[in-house]
Amino acid sequence: MEIRIQGVSKHYFSEGKTIKALDDVTLTIPANQIFTLLGPSGCGKTTLLRCIVGLESPDSGEISIGDEVVWSKDKGIYVPTEERGLGMVFQTYAIWPHMNVFDNVAYPLQTRNVPRDVIRRKVEKTLHFVQLEGFEKRPATKLSGGQQQRVALARALVAEPKVILFDEPLSNLDAKLREETRKELRTFLTELSITAVYVTHDRIEALALSDSIAVMRAGRIIEIGSPQKIYFDADHRFVADFIGRANLIPAKVVQQTENATVVESPLGVITCQKRDLAVGATVTLCLRPEFIRVAPGSGEEGANVVQGKVETLVFIGEAFEMEIRAGGELLLAKVDADTRTQVGDTLHFTLDPAHCLLVAV
Ligand code: ADP
Ligand code: MG
Repeated sequence: MEIRIQGVSKHYFSEGKTIKALDDVTLTIPANQIFTLLGPSGCGKTTLLRCIVGLESPDSGEISIGDEVVWSKDKGIYVPTEERGLGMVFQTYAIWPHMNVFDNVAYPLQTRNVPRDVIRRKVEKTLHFVQLEGFEKRPATKLSGGQQQRVALARALVAEPKVILFDEPLSNLDAKLREETRKELRTFLTELSITAVYVTHDRIEALALSDSIAVMRAGRIIEIGSPQKIYFDADHRFVADFIGRANLIPAKVVQQTENATVVESPLGVITCQKRDLAVGATVTLCLRPEFIRVAPGSGEEGANVVQGKVETLVFIGEAFEMEIRAGGELLLAKVDADTRTQVGDTLHFTLDPAHCLLVAV
């Protein structure tokens, strides 16, 4: 079920001040995808989700789920939350500790007066799906964090919603469990082929889980794309910086060739990924630490070779993180764990043009 959001704005008034939580958001969330709203805390993710759900009324605009308009300021339409056909897994919408697993999952059906044998069948089917068969009688308090999360998912799915929405559902889990649960969640959601809207401020979670990511800042959608597109090929500096570690270097376009854009920067003349930019334009060169490679040998010269001095070297297990002073800039590079490099060495680095990304300033 596709979700369409058109011109949605939302202001809050708090302590005499106006807060623009959503600023004219227009967005189409495609059917049967895992679609993530990613952005820093306070950028309006939860507010947008609450508007879709109907827990919050926008100041303007229109929201449709499938063919149905569920909110329209102009047309005076408001479809209540329980009639929107949604399932929700919210951070603050935890499972009920005083109930067992069966009752937690059955709850949304019980409130709809579904016959008891139908409830039993649907709860069992859903518990089987989230791999919690046999846990029906277990008190919610006797579950691990990951199992509680699966109960919350089962409860959101039991009424067979058209859309499922998540607001930072993994943020209370420890790092290892979070990793496992997000993998599991992706498997479950892909299998269901349901429209899922997922809110997080965690870039790794967004990359690992999503089919598409919308990056938000200050109540606006800045950029939308697949995880790969957002990571390797962002259009905006904010997006490139938010989605992964990046060295951001001021640059100026000096030449356009058939397959590349050439810039002048403190690192010298660098051949970059082709971008449609005017010669003379001011841009930002974005280099991911993992694509700054130590060149074999010394004194090598040529295109995209940069000389620099190693200032710090930190062992992080699978790699070394190295800070290199080059052309007055301090670059972060991630290099192989078996490197023989030491602090103070002067080295040459190569930059693959395909991974020299140019973003708007
Ligand atoms: P996010 O989920 O991205 O962290 P929110 O949607 O919760 O962001 O909040 C967006 C902005 O709106 C923030 O500045 C927040 O402080 C403000 N805000 C959210 N809810 C309320 C509210 N009920 N009253 C006043 N301000 C709010
Ligand atoms: Mg939030």
